[in-house]
Amino acid sequence: MILQVAALKKGEGQFLVYNAEVLLSSLEAGFSDGEHSPFKISLEAAYLSGRVIIKGTWEVHIVGECSRCLEETPYTVKENFYEEFTHLQGCGEPGEGLAREDVKEGDIFTFKGDLLNLAEYLRQSLLMAQPLKVLCRDECKGLCVVCGKNKNKEQCECAEASIDPRWAMLQEIKKKG
Ligand SMILES: [Zn+2]
Ligand SMILES: [Zn+2]
Repeated sequence: MILQVAALKKGEGQFLVYNAEVLLSSLEAGFSDGEHSPFKISLEAAYLSGRVIIKGTWEVHIVGECSRCLEETPYTVKENFYEEFTHLQGCGEPGEGLAREDVKEGDIFTFKGDLLNLAEYLRQSLLMAQPLKVLCRDECKGLCVVCGKNKNKEQCECAEASIDPRWAMLQEIKKKG
């Protein structure tokens, strides 16, 4: 998503509304297109005293993997954001916006040139908003550590031994001997 700074500057101090949908894969955050919904951004932006201020929300429906049983698990991530980007003097290359390496200087976002490319900002925002753990359901039983069966779907015989994998290994050795 790229904002034209000249248009914002013309109405300095006034917020303009932007809505966009981009492919999740285009954010280069490690998501393929898969079954995910587009990444929906709804924001307002204004130019004020050498800064571009943005505020808004984004939302995406992701089809991920349960971290216990590895089944496909849909989940939603959304975020409210507010950010300021300081407009540095000097021109960028044509078409250049926020470069990945100069996205942050201390705690201040900066950019050069006439375009403010929000791709890197949104990529980081998406990564930071990811849940630590995706679960298909709170009580997911996961996979049996011995035979690998999905314990939500079937009860396996090794349910008891799975308490301690070292014990299971000992039993294997005994069987062979
Ligand atoms: Zn699960
Ligand atoms: Zn098992």
